[in-house]
Amino acid sequence: MSNWNKRTKAVHSGTRRSQYNEVSEAIFMTQGFVYDTAEDAEARFLKAGDDEFIYARYGNPTVAMFEERIATMEGGEDAFATASGMAAVNGALTSMLKAGDHVVSSRALFGSCLYILEEILTRYGVEVTFVDGTNIEEWAAAIRSETKAVFFETVSNPTLEVIDTKSVAELAHAVGATVIVDNVFATPVFTTAFEDGADVVVYSATKHIDGQGRALGGVIIGTREFIRGTVEPYMKHTGGSMSPFHAWMMLKGLETIDLRVRAQAQSALAIAEALKGHDALTSVAYPGLADHPQNALMPDGGTVLALDLGDQTSAFKFLNALSIAVISNNLGDAKSIATHPATTTHQRLSEDQRGALGIGPGLVRFSVGLEDEDDLIADIQNALNVAKS
Ligand SMILES: *Cc1c(COP(=O)(O)O)cnc(C)c1O
Repeated sequence: MSNWNKRTKAVHSGTRRSQYNEVSEAIFMTQGFVYDTAEDAEARFLKAGDDEFIYARYGNPTVAMFEERIATMEGGEDAFATASGMAAVNGALTSMLKAGDHVVSSRALFGSCLYILEEILTRYGVEVTFVDGTNIEEWAAAIRSETKAVFFETVSNPTLEVIDTKSVAELAHAVGATVIVDNVFATPVFTTAFEDGADVVVYSATKHIDGQGRALGGVIIGTREFIRGTVEPYMKHTGGSMSPFHAWMMLKGLETIDLRVRAQAQSALAIAEALKGHDALTSVAYPGLADHPQNALMPDGGTVLALDLGDQTSAFKFLNALSIAVISNNLGDAKSIATHPATTTHQRLSEDQRGALGIGPGLVRFSVGLEDEDDLIADIQNALNVAKS
């Protein structure tokens, strides 16, 4: 099993069959589990075996299938599934940190990730230093002997800067710090996080893992010791566990994730190439383009583009003129989704903060879906022409 390739793992790893030997994974929609005797209950509370369950907040057979499948695909020893991507980011950080610890984080983060690092951790006495994630000298200057963890999005949302995980991990490991990465934009298909030195990988399963815009979910992947010794006690007592129904959706999502994400990335590259030099655009950022500054770190490019139309009026005209892509704020969906970060996902930040992150008033994040690539190119080009007129 461990020598299976990732696409085989995506379909089969973690499967547990009931007495009926069903083909498709069963949904164990139950909070609790019956013990044959009082002695059995006592024994299970003392120490639950690998496939023994107590309460759905602690674990559930359907959730365990998802955890094993994604951990195996990612190349981690174990995983804990969470109610949302943010429960996973919060769980990975908060479960291992205490007052007096120091964390170094990239500044270019999803709004809610920034909130956890800037507002919540600091409230509990954790010191956080923010750096420009693409500048390795800033990481080197900020990481010190008290640094307990470093945190970054391997590809930043929405500006698509790719961070050099290997170099940051080397600096962090030299002081014994844990490297925790939010790997959403890299996706479980194109990930190289563990190979590059990450210790803990976090996903919002809401994005490509579900891939069809249906449900929230998240997952923390790491060593068995970190997941069962540090994360599980925190998560099972604070209540951010994944529902069995959502775990089943995520399991089904993993079965097709390779096909979906590769098709989306192929369309994203075709769109980026078709749009380069369009006179309604001041820039097109896509890590898969040879002229992207970190192309070598992420040649597969991913499924999201950052288009800059220069100003908000043009960006809004463009969004309102799209007829296939919808205006929303999810990504990794089968439906193409266009977002104006400055007025939505990053509205909470000041203009200066947005400026520092490269989120200008003309920036549009475009998540490429599964529609026909030629239709998408025609839709975008038409909307760009409207924006320019
Ligand atoms: C969406 C997202 C999250 C949060 O995930 P939810 O499932 O919405 O809680 C965290 N990090 C990144 C990079 C994201 O894109």
